[in-house]
Amino acid sequence: MDKIIIAIDGYSSSGKSSMAKALASKIGYRYIDSGAMYRAVTLWAMRNGLVANGDVDREALIADLPKINVDFRVMPDGKQHTLLNGEDVEELIRRMDVSSNVSQVSVIPEVRHKLVDLQQELGNGKGIVMDGRDIGTTVFPHAEMKVFVTASVETRAQRRLQELAAKGIPANYEEVFANVAQRDHIDETREESPLRKAADAVTLDNSTMSVEAQNQWLLDLYHSKINA
Ligand code: C5P
Repeated sequence: MDKIIIAIDGYSSSGKSSMAKALASKIGYRYIDSGAMYRAVTLWAMRNGLVANGDVDREALIADLPKINVDFRVMPDGKQHTLLNGEDVEELIRRMDVSSNVSQVSVIPEVRHKLVDLQQELGNGKGIVMDGRDIGTTVFPHAEMKVFVTASVETRAQRRLQELAAKGIPANYEEVFANVAQRDHIDETREESPLRKAADAVTLDNSTMSVEAQNQWLLDLYHSKINA
């Protein structure tokens, strides 16, 4: 059976990364977290004084884009980490300060073009599960399987809070809720490849689904696609 491209898009903290990761590991595909790439560029901009409190120095960041290298590496524990110019930034890019600036950095068309090119290169050999906001619409419009994941803002904020707590990253519910709602808004209303369901994507609202149930749903969909 030929390998396919699987695009999983959806809202912040909808659980799409966990589902995508679980599917990739089950079927032996490579998993790519495209959000981690936007987060890594944001961290670089923060460290270089080019973004603070959501205000981005666009011109300077665009000029510096060639200096930013984002990559992934599988670590000895089997987990894939994000590298920024060779440095493992997997933990740093999940922090609230990065979450608060990432959507503003992600609206910049030049940033998107750079990362979309990289994402398309990673998908060259197929056999990939990629999650994000524009994977089924812009990065891989011809992906053989597309899913659009959604859940209520309350459910997603609660999940994000638990995720952060598990990593020992301090945050409170109000702050996380506001950040999730704000990112939804910026992601949906930006001009360049906004968060949107592709016409041929299957929608999954997982507000009341267990992790096991969503993983099974996704695996069943995969089997139905490859046996079609
Ligand atoms: O998936 P995650 O929540 O980590 O993504 C962080 C941010 O990166 C999103 O809120 C969005 O602004 C941006 N993003 C994007 N396009 C993607 C993936 C993420 O604009 N394909």
